[in-house]
Amino acid sequence: MTTDEMATRATHEPERIAAERGAVIDLRDVSKIYGMGDIQVHALRDVSLAVERGDYVAIMGASGSGKTTLMNIIGCLDVPTTGSYRLDAVNVAELDDLELADRRNRGIGFVFQSFNLIPRTTALANVELPLLYGGLKRGQRRQRAQAALAALGLSDRVGHHPNELSGGQQQRVAIARAIVTNPAIILADEPTGALDSASTSEVLSIFDHLNVTGRTVIVITHEVEVAARAKRVVRLRDGSIVEDQRQAPPQGPPPYLMGQVA
Ligand code: ADP
Ligand code: MG
Repeated sequence: MTTDEMATRATHEPERIAAERGAVIDLRDVSKIYGMGDIQVHALRDVSLAVERGDYVAIMGASGSGKTTLMNIIGCLDVPTTGSYRLDAVNVAELDDLELADRRNRGIGFVFQSFNLIPRTTALANVELPLLYGGLKRGQRRQRAQAALAALGLSDRVGHHPNELSGGQQQRVAIARAIVTNPAIILADEPTGALDSASTSEVLSIFDHLNVTGRTVIVITHEVEVAARAKRVVRLRDGSIVEDQRQAPPQGPPPYLMGQVA
């Protein structure tokens, strides 16, 4: 291989991986421009990113580098200005709003920094909410929500309202809500940003567990301890990927479970 061919190959690495292994997430040359006229903001510039099923990816970068914009596009909450996005090999640009919402509801679990729970509503009702779209009967919804809360150690908090729970407990309710539909992908935007260190390690253990049981996990963070738990770290600067580091193989257990993280 000539140097030029090697350079070409390196440039097309995301596409090559996507083509060979069947990426669950496949962004190509994605740009996002907000606004019009002279107040345009290039939130993302030519981002190509392929994520394999079962991988655990941390997306890092300074405030304003485009992390949330990228998460919104991956989660089908927003669309690229230019470039293409294939989710599970389906070009999302070809889906109508209903199909897109359906894919989002069944395929992706979202976790946010500020939990985004519905106030004055029990933990159980919060976790049941995503199941309303799935056509399950009331009893089945209740049962599934109770099981998800139990899996997160919250069986004794099902009747509590968000303001009666600690930050860590609220985030666990939010994670129960994210996983109750059994999505293949978990997308988390600064999930530990509002948590103390004890709650942070609880949440990180939950993500390790979700990944080891087959979910693809994507976590946006600016915390080094959080990124250390991922199998791959992607860094954004000014809307571009400037670094892409593999910390553990995509198919094996995450680094912490291998004893590679202190
Ligand atoms: P991060 O999550 O890394 O802090 P964001 O993706 O939120 O970054 O934002 C990237 C850039 O896009 C920032 O300059 C931000 O001000 C801008 N931006 C984000 N959302 C919007 C929006 N809805 N309208 C206009 N500009 C936006
Ligand atoms: Mg953000």
